[in-house]
Amino acid sequence: MVSTIGKGVRSSSATSYLGPQFIERRNLHVLLHAQVARLLRAGSSRGKHEFKTVEFTEGVGGPRRTVKARKEIILSAGSIGSPHILLNSGIGDNAELSRVGIKTLVHLPSVGKNLSDHPFVVNQWVVNSTNTFETINRNATVAARDLQQWSETKMGPLVDGTFNHAGWIRVPRSAGIFGGLLDPAAGPNTAHVEFVISNGLSHVPLPTNIGNMSFFVISTAVLTPVSRTSSSTCPPFSTLAL
Ligand SMILES: Cc1cc2nc3c(=O)[nH]c(=O)nc-3n(C[C@H](O)[C@H](O)[C@H](O)COP(=O)(O)OP(=O)(O)OC[C@H]3O[C@@H](n4cnc5c(N)ncnc54)[C@H](O)[C@@H]3O)c2cc1C
Repeated sequence: MVSTIGKGVRSSSATSYLGPQFIERRNLHVLLHAQVARLLRAGSSRGKHEFKTVEFTEGVGGPRRTVKARKEIILSAGSIGSPHILLNSGIGDNAELSRVGIKTLVHLPSVGKNLSDHPFVVNQWVVNSTNTFETINRNATVAARDLQQWSETKMGPLVDGTFNHAGWIRVPRSAGIFGGLLDPAAGPNTAHVEFVISNGLSHVPLPTNIGNMSFFVISTAVLTPVSRTSSSTCPPFSTLAL
């Protein structure tokens, strides 16, 4: 399974963008506990709306503050948070925004209407190996030994991601599940289903009804769900309604 790990340490947004060597930059300011409420329109230029101010609170319910962008704002609040902020900013379906008292600035009915979820089913099997991840959770001596090995050498089991193998398959075109529907995959060689395999359970609590048995795990993800839902049916839309 592909993970971005270098010298025994996994890379993340925090380590790659906010690590000590980056956070020192004079042109980077990180606000903690800032909850964005909406974007404010600065005006229109050549028929295009310009949103260059971000309105936010420090913590939920704190006083509202604003920051202004000289050039541009990148909105990246996730699959629910991004449409939530757009809708609060008056960018969305006119009828829906009016119903909750938000003035429409840009009538864009598609905002928040294409949320897709990828079902992910975790199946566990008991195995006779004892060299599996959950040993670390169960045995404090093993955990301390592995942590020491990682601390001193950046080697050992703690270097691994949870999933260490993956496989992708296509459902044959003749399968009844399509029922005359268009193939939802991105292309003729693109998988419909992903399997990710792990030599053990890495999460706690561990099952208690089978003693200290070890596990092998195969998780299956539907990669191309055709089902869509709307973020206006999700709770966050109303929590910041203005
Ligand atoms: C279980 C799972 C497994 C995945 N596995 C993979 C994988 O193996 N490979 C892969 O490429 N992708 C994977 N993804 C998808 C990947 O995580 C997302 O595509 C990616 O995180 C999206 O990044 P983002 O920055 O757009 O949004 P997010 O990572 O969702 O970040 C949005 C951030 O905005 C914050 N936020 C939301 N609203 C506000 C607000 N009003 N004010 C301030 N902050 C706010 C949120 O707290 C969050 O921190 C997986 C996703 C899940 C759920």
